[in-house]
Amino acid sequence: MRRSRNVKIVATLGPASDTYEMIRALHEAGADVFRLNMSHGTHDEIAAKHAIIRRIEGDVGTPIAILADLQGPKLRVGTFANDAEDLAEGAAFRLDLDPAPGDATRVCLPHPEIFAALKPGAHLLVNDGKIRLKVAACGADFADCIVVAGGTISNRKGVNVPDVVLPLAALSDKDRADLEFACDLGVDWLALSFVQRPEDVTEARALVRGRAAILSKIEKPAAVEAFDAILAVSDGIMVARGDLGVELPVQAVPPIQKRLVRRCRAAAKPVIVATQMLESMVTSPMPTRAEVSDVATAIYEGADAIMLSAESAAGQYPVEAVRTMDKVATEVEADPTYTQIIAASRSVRGDTVAHAIVAAAREIAETTDIKAICCFTQSGTTALLTARERPGVPIIAMTSLQRTARRLCLSWGCHCVMTGELGRFKEAVVSAARAARQGGFATETDQIVVTAGVPFNVPGTTNILRVAPCDERLIFTTDPG
Ligand code: PGA
Ligand code: MN
Repeated sequence: MRRSRNVKIVATLGPASDTYEMIRALHEAGADVFRLNMSHGTHDEIAAKHAIIRRIEGDVGTPIAILADLQGPKLRVGTFANDAEDLAEGAAFRLDLDPAPGDATRVCLPHPEIFAALKPGAHLLVNDGKIRLKVAACGADFADCIVVAGGTISNRKGVNVPDVVLPLAALSDKDRADLEFACDLGVDWLALSFVQRPEDVTEARALVRGRAAILSKIEKPAAVEAFDAILAVSDGIMVARGDLGVELPVQAVPPIQKRLVRRCRAAAKPVIVATQMLESMVTSPMPTRAEVSDVATAIYEGADAIMLSAESAAGQYPVEAVRTMDKVATEVEADPTYTQIIAASRSVRGDTVAHAIVAAAREIAETTDIKAICCFTQSGTTALLTARERPGVPIIAMTSLQRTARRLCLSWGCHCVMTGELGRFKEAVVSAARAARQGGFATETDQIVVTAGVPFNVPGTTNILRVAPCDERLIFTTDPG
């Protein structure tokens, strides 16, 4: 599906979006990447959504990325007999290890390690910090709390314990099982929740064994502190503002978002800005002005992708939410101020031939009437370096590897096109010209920039830049060799 914007849209799937028709409608409205949340749903349900996305990919004919999000050491309450209860300020509420469905007086918190670490006076934050519980008394298998800030508590809501350092492993047994399941299924990206240390990422990578790219979710103060080391061992980053804004004061989140987005771009790794972007659209067909501004801000900052959570997973207006992001993106990217901001934050870095070639490709494309940069990429690195340049013309990422094409769906500006195995550079130029014409990026009278590494199939060898006509007959008559 041809997009006319650079920033990518990630849509989380859930009960509001679990049919072929709805997922296809989300894709057509603009969703480039689908997120499967391993915290909700059985493996069968996840597999069913995965199969639907792959079917849509085949029917539409363009690659789609699937991101499986591991729950991580996220603490969640159990379920309620009535699915939800209202907790009033000042009321008593007990957390315990009893798996029986909860009611207005208690619920299960199936994490013995929390009860071991809790102290009277500690706070537990439930449901994005909306509900605040203060521990009055606790033991090895219970905590009797007073409701300090009330609200509706419902099945499997998240719990944060900012006052206490919890000795939690990076991957729970459930995460390990989910990781294996998701990799077997063939997801493209695996997101790790509540990463605290770079070792958490390398531990997961050893289990993934190259089957998926790894995205670290930054949602703990420790991860913000260790960010550079975490980025170095990750393939991508999510600014997970939901938990980040609970674990840290909410006002700390915007500066962190800006810093992380810049660092990711400098490292040529995709970054997603996530959570509550269009929260009011869970129940309203219209976003608030502030939400539109938030989405716009992430795009102006140069994020690779913006994400919908409950809006597309459980909201009443999933398609409208995607459409809203698409429209905001189109408007922002047409703004000359956007182009200025993106250009001003371009960090000239790297001293390899590949870096010089992608920089030159952008330079040539922007100063002449070139319609697209077509880069041949196997590992995806050349496309990532080209995306980091944030060029003013579309990037067509050409690859014979389906997994590379799919992974790149998360990266800024990359239009991914599958090629056959290529032998000679001339063949590559012909296929690039054809892809540019077929994608509607160029016509026969236009020119494109083609970059490639020859010989093909040797990673990291980008060494050719050619300005080529889109008319195939001319490719041969103007070929230098
Ligand atoms: P979650 O992660 O939706 O899995 O909690 C995103 C966030 O915390 O912002
Ligand atoms: Mn989170």
